[in-house]
Amino acid sequence: MNELQPLFERNAQWARQIEARQPGFFERLARQQSPKYMWIGCADSRVPANEIIGLDPGEVFVHRNVANLVVNSDLNALSTIQFAVEHLRVEHIMVVGHYGCAGVRAALRGTRIGLADNWLRHVQDLRLRHRKRLIHLDESAQEDVLCEINVIEQVGNVALSTVLQDAWARGQKVTLHGWVYGLRDGLLKDLAVTMDRPDNVMPAFVQAIKRYPRLAQPEGA
Ligand SMILES: [Zn+2]
Repeated sequence: MNELQPLFERNAQWARQIEARQPGFFERLARQQSPKYMWIGCADSRVPANEIIGLDPGEVFVHRNVANLVVNSDLNALSTIQFAVEHLRVEHIMVVGHYGCAGVRAALRGTRIGLADNWLRHVQDLRLRHRKRLIHLDESAQEDVLCEINVIEQVGNVALSTVLQDAWARGQKVTLHGWVYGLRDGLLKDLAVTMDRPDNVMPAFVQAIKRYPRLAQPEGA
């Protein structure tokens, strides 16, 4: 037997269940998608976007990569965001990190993974930029805080992209959010870095990042 056969069987069962619950579901969905939400998350298999927020196919537009990064020169992420904003007209974009992220951990500890080391340089840069907010914490707290700071920074990157700047200039309503997901309890936490227009990008960013105190400088240092 083909070892992947069970996946096809489960797929058929899943499709039957959805059709039974909502007759005509797939036919309607095939004609048009109109999700209100875009999810930018980590590729980690333990963080499935639709399931976590209890949404059906067609309800959330998803982009995932290692460590949920939005890099200013990444055409993949930027094209996906542009499509979501300009064609699907999503109303909310959430960047969702997660505790226990192997990418963030590798960047924090300087562990070599392979090709991804180059990608994770972006997280290493954040570790350096925010080292005073990390250095006085124990290793596991450093990891959690870097996961959160990474999300806050990526929300800022989405906000400063030409896609969002243009959308807001046109008067389109799109709100950005930063969340973090707990693998241990399955719960989402809002990092309160919500941005919905150009003039609240910096204040929201500063307000969010201020929650992570810097190590106090000793006298004369
Ligand atoms: Zn991850």
